[in-house]
Amino acid sequence: MMAIVKIGHDTIGCGLPCQPIVGPCTVTRDVSDLVSMLADRGVMWIRGGCWKPRSTSISFWGFGIGGVEWLLRAARANTIKTVFMEVMDTRHIDDVRYVHQCVGFEGTIVLWVGARTSNQTLLEALGSQDEYPVMLKHHPWDTTIDPLLTRAQFVTNGEMKWDDTGALLVDPDHEQNSTVLLCVRGLDKRAPDQHRPLRFSPNPEWITELHERSLHPVVWDPSHIAGRSEFVWQILRAGLNRQPEVVMVECWFDRDDHRKALCDGDQAIPISQVPSILKMVKEHNALHYGV
Ligand code: PEP
Ligand code: MN
Repeated sequence: MMAIVKIGHDTIGCGLPCQPIVGPCTVTRDVSDLVSMLADRGVMWIRGGCWKPRSTSISFWGFGIGGVEWLLRAARANTIKTVFMEVMDTRHIDDVRYVHQCVGFEGTIVLWVGARTSNQTLLEALGSQDEYPVMLKHHPWDTTIDPLLTRAQFVTNGEMKWDDTGALLVDPDHEQNSTVLLCVRGLDKRAPDQHRPLRFSPNPEWITELHERSLHPVVWDPSHIAGRSEFVWQILRAGLNRQPEVVMVECWFDRDDHRKALCDGDQAIPISQVPSILKMVKEHNALHYGV
């Protein structure tokens, strides 16, 4: 049975409604305009990448700490409740903390680890603090949910210590982070020469498996599976049918807008269609949770 998990003043899990996260793949200077448009449409949880793991070194890397400042200032100005942002390195946790203190954002920040940049040092560092809840994305090459569950333990156990005989030390004051969300984002099952319409293979059955084997809230990411915005809808639906606690959808300005997305633009839902995404989640919540 799923536990009730607090994310700031909101609660998810255990028969509570599904929460939508909507926001750009990558934060740009225009993020304040986008965030205010999202807030006007009722979005309260947003996402935005400031450090971008890329498959080629000449692809845009993200605006880093500058992007964190733009995103948190925009979130603060629009009284956004929760901001999800990616950290690729332990230094980024300190960078976020520093900007967070400077900007004075009063909502919650969830730090996420991307599909390809998970490493033990980063997970341990995220587990040795409990200021920021954590979201972990599984690797596209994972064949089962086990590696994701194992990675979650590095966070929930925090930094472990052993004595000089190799025996595990039990410290009652040991810091750890129990708030971990697990994100399902599609698998890379492609043969090298195989054409396919979707960017990744949908794996909504992982939502059910994670519910059966863990107490962590599950996030469904249809955007990175779809690769194109017109496919996001059906993949969102397939995920909702498994009742994830959270869904995360990438958005951008409308297609005719002069502002061009710097990453993942093809899969971004145009801002004019965001109300329909929210309506879909609302109708799902009305049907399953009576709210
Ligand atoms: C993202 O969420 O923008 C992202 C890069 O996703 P993933 O790590 O799943 O590829
Ligand atoms: Mn993206």
